[in-house]
Amino acid sequence: MRTLIVEDDPTLGASTAHGLELEGFAVDWRTDGASADAALIAQKYDTIVLDLGLPGIPGESLLRSWRERSDYTPVLVLTARGFVLDRVRLLNLGADDYLVKPFDLLELGARLRALARRHGGKTEAMLEYGSLLLSRSDHVAMWKGGRVELTKREYRILDTLLRNRGRVLTRKQLEEALYGWGEEIESNAIEVHVHNLRRKLARDLIETVRGTGYRLSPHAQ
Ligand code: CA
Repeated sequence: MRTLIVEDDPTLGASTAHGLELEGFAVDWRTDGASADAALIAQKYDTIVLDLGLPGIPGESLLRSWRERSDYTPVLVLTARGFVLDRVRLLNLGADDYLVKPFDLLELGARLRALARRHGGKTEAMLEYGSLLLSRSDHVAMWKGGRVELTKREYRILDTLLRNRGRVLTRKQLEEALYGWGEEIESNAIEVHVHNLRRKLARDLIETVRGTGYRLSPHAQ
């Protein structure tokens, strides 16, 4: 079970990460919104623990942007004592659960396991985008109902683009995503893989955004 902790307080972050590791979680700990976002692009998590008061991008904006791009990884929000209205608002924004600080680590672990279990049934075994269907359990891509043979890396780039639909990913972010899957990559690998994906699927499925990166074409939806 892999969990992303987003908490800027060094003491609380370290003790939460350590406590969950002792309970058998694989933990990544990030201290600000931008690096949390990068981690979520690169890696699939079973659950996320999100502090609201973060430097830079506030936790609430992070959560909203994840949900807007259809990332439904279960999120447990950490709130300060007494912010009742905030909690209601957060659940409305797409948080799956919350805990009030200070919290008990055993309770946090139990709640995260419960969230992952609940989410497990509807885990995104299939990703769909227009005529494209990805079966994530066996890494098969279907285009207009026909099976398309992709290499492991092509599949992973496509999976990353689908999980981040609606946003532009830089070449570096895609490279990091491949690294996140444990892949070694060459310098022009992303261009070559995108070229091959266009050839195998559709030329206009993946858009090049000049000077920025790549995204799934909104017109292909
Ligand atoms: Ca904080």
